Amino acid sequence: MRVLKFGGTSVKDAEAMQRVENILEQFTGKLIVVLSATSGTTNILLEMLTFASKGILEEAQKLKNESKKRHFEIIEKLGLMSSNSLIEEIEGVFQNLESLLKGVYYLRETTERASDVAISFGEIISTKIFTEYLKAKNKKCVWFDAREVIITSKDSQNSPSLVRIKNASQLKISPLFHENDLIITQGFIAKDENEIPTTLGRGGSDLTASLLGNALEAEAIEIWTDVSGVMTVDPRTVETAFAQKELSFKEAAELAYFGARVLHPRTIQPAMDKNIPVWVKNTLLPNDFGTLITNESKNIKTVKAIAFRKNITVITVQSTGMFMAHGFLEKLFQIFSKYEIAIDLISTSEITVSLTIDDTKNLEKAKIELEELAKVRVMENLSIIALVGEEIKNSEGFLKKVFTALDKIPIEMISFGASNVNLSLVLPNVNLNEAVRKLHKELFEKEDL
Ligand code: ASP
Ligand code: MG
Repeated sequence: MRVLKFGGTSVKDAEAMQRVENILEQFTGKLIVVLSATSGTTNILLEMLTFASKGILEEAQKLKNESKKRHFEIIEKLGLMSSNSLIEEIEGVFQNLESLLKGVYYLRETTERASDVAISFGEIISTKIFTEYLKAKNKKCVWFDAREVIITSKDSQNSPSLVRIKNASQLKISPLFHENDLIITQGFIAKDENEIPTTLGRGGSDLTASLLGNALEAEAIEIWTDVSGVMTVDPRTVETAFAQKELSFKEAAELAYFGARVLHPRTIQPAMDKNIPVWVKNTLLPNDFGTLITNESKNIKTVKAIAFRKNITVITVQSTGMFMAHGFLEKLFQIFSKYEIAIDLISTSEITVSLTIDDTKNLEKAKIELEELAKVRVMENLSIIALVGEEIKNSEGFLKKVFTALDKIPIEMISFGASNVNLSLVLPNVNLNEAVRKLHKELFEKEDL
């Protein structure tokens, strides 16, 4: 059994859904097919809620009607207008959405729960339509509600509860394969232990696929998207970017975490735990090789890709004592943990610690407490560049190439050595594109590589 996930652009309209159906034809074994909402739909659902909560119900309803029209066009083009059960179901979803928008409008407030319910409609609709299309093509398939098995814990991150997911999947999904070849389900949507609707966070459909792959010990997890694999760098920044054919789990995880957009950062771990290969494939060019992510590092000592993230913040904490008394770091980290601020990179010297953070929501509060402890400086408008590759440390001439490329570019912070997989640099946002282009040229476009 394989788990195939198709993202929003892969199901964006009738032609796209037909392409997905064609791709599925190539497979002979059992499949779980995880779909995102049609592209843009999750954003539009969130916009509707914002309008409703601001008291602009007509705008919310206008967006809802447009979305309804778009989805009915897909139904029509796929030749499914005669399916009364599908029409009824989709009408029902839009009626529920209407009620929800009205509720939010009356309360003039949207809560996380309201928004989780509203955005779940996107995936419900795309999977309902696609399942009906497969049935019309005489496929042995069944629609399955992912919330029956994708269960999150009640922590602030909505972390998936692996054991519950495994038990529920084995109990509820496995038997469906007795009579079906294909199980169609939603990415992203979930519920918590108390049956409250949740999600796995934006872009979370990839994670659904790898959670199901892990729970049911799939042969492979395939993430189908609109690019031919994990690229050496974002092609919008560097035109000469190309897809890497193979990556290790560690490399892929690191790249996803530092901003390569093809995979949700948490996708790799569940696959890695069970040593399940992950493919990244292009729905538009299904014959392209794509990227294969496995346990094997072929031990090629070279950099595999460049990822970057803009708008990060560096906090430098200078201990006011002569040197860092013991327990200083512990107190420091306790403050970050208390305010749920995730730290990415750290670099320390005798009396200062610099660290980077992504989310500054609670920074002001944390800063007040940090100032009790030390002198604090906050630097904004910075970017992280991560150069990723197993064993880059041992890659010949690697550091020389990096510093040649970055000559004259101001670097605020470097982190190297904590893992074998990653060299990270922090620099001003304004220098980011230039630095990334020069690094790509030096590391990927020179003959001797
Ligand atoms: N539809 C969700 C989103 O747009 C989840 C996903 O597509 O992965 O974030
Ligand atoms: Mg995605």
